[in-house]
Amino acid sequence: MKGNEYDVLVVGGGIHGAGVAQAAAATGRAALLLEASGPAAGTSSRSSKLIHGGLRYLESFELGLVAESLAEREILLEIAPHLVRLVDFHVPIYKQTTRRPWQLRVGLSLYSLLGRFRASTRFKRLKRNAWGDLDGIRTEGLQAVFRYSDGQTNDARLVRSVLASAQELGCDVQYPAELLTAAREERGWLVRYRAGEEEREVRVSTLVNAAGPWIEHVRRRITPSPGGRTVDLVSGTHLELAGRLERGIYYTEAPRDGRAVFTMPWEDRILLGTTERTHLTDPADVAPTEEEEEYLLETYSHYFPGTPEVLDSWAGLRVLPRAAGDAFHRSRETLLFHDDPHIPRYVGIYGGKLTGYRATAARTLRTLAAALPVRPHKADTQTLLLPEVD
Ligand SMILES: Cc1cc2nc3c(=O)[nH]c(=O)nc-3n(C[C@H](O)[C@H](O)[C@H](O)COP(=O)(O)OP(=O)(O)OC[C@H]3O[C@@H](n4cnc5c(N)ncnc54)[C@H](O)[C@@H]3O)c2cc1C
Repeated sequence: MKGNEYDVLVVGGGIHGAGVAQAAAATGRAALLLEASGPAAGTSSRSSKLIHGGLRYLESFELGLVAESLAEREILLEIAPHLVRLVDFHVPIYKQTTRRPWQLRVGLSLYSLLGRFRASTRFKRLKRNAWGDLDGIRTEGLQAVFRYSDGQTNDARLVRSVLASAQELGCDVQYPAELLTAAREERGWLVRYRAGEEEREVRVSTLVNAAGPWIEHVRRRITPSPGGRTVDLVSGTHLELAGRLERGIYYTEAPRDGRAVFTMPWEDRILLGTTERTHLTDPADVAPTEEEEEYLLETYSHYFPGTPEVLDSWAGLRVLPRAAGDAFHRSRETLLFHDDPHIPRYVGIYGGKLTGYRATAARTLRTLAAALPVRPHKADTQTLLLPEVD
């Protein structure tokens, strides 16, 4: 392998790019990751920070997604106990709540089944005398409260940890380093990128577009175009509020439209999110709006006493394949798009979840396998402990 030749080029240093870089290096492949800004500069530092199966995806029958996410949650609890922990989730059901107690019971039973009845998937309906202990949640009109567990993490730190693991396995990680162009050659791609002030050139066998909301921008820099999906960018805002929650996370319905809103303990604050608004301009311009802040605070005050001080707010972008219907009800499955049915040399990663990054990375590597040399494996990402990072 020459100094400027690699088996795999990964564009983007969010969770997906980091995951693919780690998976490539673990299978002994020479990998280079380019990140235009810094690790987790995009969506991967602006998520709800949950490592979860996604209870609500049961309603859209995304059973495969939920089962895979629950399995990945279990793996992450093992390989990154310093980064992922189980937290109690509470679902309060009021007279006006759309979902009825029996529906919750059915949903949580299915969640538990898809999670193979592991101890971490147990749930219960809280007794009435326990309601008073739930961070002051409104009890007027309350009919039932269910408690189950899901994972919480620090998303940006998780990305840095996976990237550090990739580097330990020999991956070359460069940032700030922006992909400028990639041109198809007989056995791969000739890639130009800018690293600081300098322009560089490398030859790679395969190219993975993990640029998140910039996926189509990156795709347009590739010739001939490998094709892709028409996507919508949908922004989600979170607010950081002054205050503390002692009992865990609350999974509520926004009174305005019934969408799910999480109220979560986050460091020494309360994290409240999220919204869904179509974003039509540059991904870098995504920011919370006053309307979104109002919507979230209205939801918070509907369930908890008082109006807390907003200490910070931020927004991230979901990449959702275009389809009819509102964003909330669209599939959250990760879609891999590849360029050639026989020997793919390009994969674009559309959408996805923080939670499933490892499975997505493994699938990406399998898609590219025919174009990649077989090399001695160095590690199995399913059991390799993730390093502690700042
Ligand atoms: C509001 C919200 C809440 C969410 N909550 C959860 C949750 O609780 N749990 C969960 O599992 N999932 C959640 N998700 C989904 C999850 O956060 C995303 O799927 C994931 O972070 C996407 O990561 P990514 O690596 O694809 O993209 P990103 O993190 O956006 O990374 C893309 C990177 O590519 C880089 N880049 C762009 N162009 C170039 C270029 N030309 N050259 C080099 N680099 C480039 C960017 O700088 C960026 O760092 C949430 C998403 C949103 C929007």
